[in-house]
Amino acid sequence: MSSRRADEGPKKRFVIIGGGPGGTACATHAARLGADVTLIERDIVGGAAHLLDCIPSKAMIATGSAMSAMRAASEMGLATVDVKLDFEALRHRIKHIEGRLEDSVTSLLESQRVRLIEGTGRLVGSHEVEATHADGTIETIEGDIIVLAAGSRPRVPEWAQVDGQRVLTTRHAYPPPQLPEHLIVIGSGVTGVEFVHMFNSFGSDVTLIVSRQQVLPDKDPEVAAVLEQSFLDRGVRLFMGARAESIEVGDQAVKVSCNDGRIAEGSHVLLAIGSIPNSDNLNLEAAGVESEWGYVSIDHNCRSSVSHIYAAGDLSGKLPLSSVASTQGRKIAEHAMGLHASPHRHIDYDKAASAIFTDPEIADVGVAEADAFAEGRKIRVTKVPFSVSAKALINNDSRGFVKIVSDPATGVVMGGSIVGRHAAELISVLALAVSAGLTVQDLVESLFVHPALAEVLGEAAE
Ligand SMILES: Cc1cc2nc3c(=O)[nH]c(=O)nc-3n(C[C@H](O)[C@H](O)[C@H](O)COP(=O)(O)OP(=O)(O)OC[C@H]3O[C@@H](n4cnc5c(N)ncnc54)[C@H](O)[C@@H]3O)c2cc1C
Repeated sequence: MSSRRADEGPKKRFVIIGGGPGGTACATHAARLGADVTLIERDIVGGAAHLLDCIPSKAMIATGSAMSAMRAASEMGLATVDVKLDFEALRHRIKHIEGRLEDSVTSLLESQRVRLIEGTGRLVGSHEVEATHADGTIETIEGDIIVLAAGSRPRVPEWAQVDGQRVLTTRHAYPPPQLPEHLIVIGSGVTGVEFVHMFNSFGSDVTLIVSRQQVLPDKDPEVAAVLEQSFLDRGVRLFMGARAESIEVGDQAVKVSCNDGRIAEGSHVLLAIGSIPNSDNLNLEAAGVESEWGYVSIDHNCRSSVSHIYAAGDLSGKLPLSSVASTQGRKIAEHAMGLHASPHRHIDYDKAASAIFTDPEIADVGVAEADAFAEGRKIRVTKVPFSVSAKALINNDSRGFVKIVSDPATGVVMGGSIVGRHAAELISVLALAVSAGLTVQDLVESLFVHPALAEVLGEAAE
């Protein structure tokens, strides 16, 4: 990216509300392009992504994976190891990671001379943002460009009383007050299954309440089946087709009653049933910014119904991914600075890669086989299991497969799914193929490392 600066005239003033990946990416990029940037963050720079969502969850999953690997030591020619979680050490590790990330984002913002306000922001006019500083002082800041990047928070249904002790949302789980003896997870989307995997690895008993007949209901059924089997093999109890309706907290136990009469009993409950946007305190009406279900409506340039007000990240109601939030942030900076507006530079959300950090990992990008089938689109699907891979054998883990969806006429890679070890890394190859319009032949002709799991990508492209 060029570091072209707006040398003529007064600097464009950006005011950004929210310092998560969407807000900070926009701030640093706009400052680099010559804007005068103020960023208002009420909590921690780096946002929920660093403090409450992606990073701590992945850090805990990494600890759980290390425990699982040690439990399987004898299969790798090692003496059996006695694995025990040190909860305090884990807490310390997570704090350390959060601190490091916060410091690095803060110093990046400082190095770009972004003015950082610790406080809460809200719109008070179409060009004015009111910032209430942490010490209570109030300041009105004028912006030529305003960016709303306030993120989202976990959804709590009216029948659940969250106490942060026994009834938790994802925000209380890094780590929770104690290691649950038996955790009941309500919700089997991406977040729910990651928590099942995490706490099962730590040694907790886990029950998962799945409202449909498939965990990960939005994913390819073949992909979901591998995870479902892995959960069953690990002793996770699955309540399939059950909708949680109430939670009863007793002295020693919690009970979750479901609509089909079943009751799950455990020591703790974790709600993972989606999120809601943090737009209620932004005073969108003051500037006439339109929203739907609380999500700011945006166009392909992330511009709201008011042309100089943009929205990035979860608040925009697009894909709730950190990677998408930061890409939107960068695109907003470029668009608002007039760098380019040609169509090919718009974000294509359909080409965003995503991953689920379970064991095995799951990742996908682009067109899914089941969706293409449902839409009657002509596709070619090829699938190769990791059991053919020498590296999988070396790793003592041959679970899963690579599936590639391509255009039968041109061979262009349209999408793919990977289930297996390092799927979240391997999917990048398919993501690049999808976004660059590469063909299966391009993959076949790539000289992959041997032995490497990536070789299976070449084989699946054949
Ligand atoms: C458990 C979990 C795991 C996840 N794991 C992943 C993952 O592995 N990979 C991935 O890509 N995504 C993951 N996500 C999604 C990811 O965390 C979000 O998509 C991402 O954080 C969105 O970034 P954002 O900038 O929109 O908002 P956020 O990161 O939510 O940041 C918004 C910021 O705005 C601040 N704020 C809100 N209102 C105001 C206000 N009025 N004034 C000032 N500040 C305000 C908040 O304090 C917050 O810091 C996960 C989500 C969850 C819940």
